[in-house]
Amino acid sequence: MDGMDRTGDDDLFARLKAYEGRPATLAGTGKDPVNLPMIRHWCEALGDTNPAYTGPGAIAPPTMLQAWTMGGLAGHTTRTPAYDELLGLLDEAGCTSVVATDCEQEYLRPLRPGDEITFDTVIESVSVRKTTKLGTGYFVTTRTRIHAGGELAGTHRFRILKYAPARRKKAPADTRPRPVVNRDNAGFWEGVQRHELLIQRCADCRTLRFPWLPGCDACGGLDWDTVRAAGDGTVHSYVVMHHPPFPAFDPPYAVGLIELVEGVRIVSNVVGVPYDKVRIGMPVRLEFRRYDDELVLPVFRGELFRGGLS
Ligand SMILES: [Zn+2]
Repeated sequence: MDGMDRTGDDDLFARLKAYEGRPATLAGTGKDPVNLPMIRHWCEALGDTNPAYTGPGAIAPPTMLQAWTMGGLAGHTTRTPAYDELLGLLDEAGCTSVVATDCEQEYLRPLRPGDEITFDTVIESVSVRKTTKLGTGYFVTTRTRIHAGGELAGTHRFRILKYAPARRKKAPADTRPRPVVNRDNAGFWEGVQRHELLIQRCADCRTLRFPWLPGCDACGGLDWDTVRAAGDGTVHSYVVMHHPPFPAFDPPYAVGLIELVEGVRIVSNVVGVPYDKVRIGMPVRLEFRRYDDELVLPVFRGELFRGGLS
């Protein structure tokens, strides 16, 4: 494995290792016998239409193995303190984060509606300390043996990484803040990367809208396409920022509410003219400015009025 850190003979590791082989659950029982309604919900959720899982001779999908052992919101009363103690030791050592890494199942016999489930879980292994991209910690593997009618039906091995999160590199204070990109506006920011300013257009009533929204304010329509802004506009309004100072910006600077020729308005920087020469009605032209390796933003270059209005 990557990032092996063979310092496994430390004191903590010895204490963790002592939990190997100890039970995490003893004589657990399934909350419900294997049953058709749970099988049906599972198959619907996964879109699994295999005929083996329906009808009089139905079996349960093998991958449901763990589902029959789950405690639900109320949990199980058959858990032993060992697993919680082990996780507690890791918490104390600073490994406070957890991520499930993998799961391995083995199927020995099919489960059928009516099968009563019993199970037991052991702490199978604790790894030596390992460093991953997420941070440094220990892999903890548990193994659950699932029985139906006293017969071993399968095993379920579950592995987590309990780790101390790696410190993230902090962005320098003078890094321009990132836009918040979400499902509703991702298309806009993809356009910006290609140096296109895209305006949403309702597919039903053709109303243009900006900023991007999931639905049309005019008709409620949810379908849309986009129109590429020609790039011409005027300053509809503006403010000059003097305060508060923020390291990524260099006050004073002008923030404009730009009215595009298409009729929608966008908040952006007005560049290319001194902040105190920006005026309402000033013609502006779209351009794209690169701020760093990742960040490109649309800005608007002002043109001073001819005839010396300023
Ligand atoms: Zn509409």
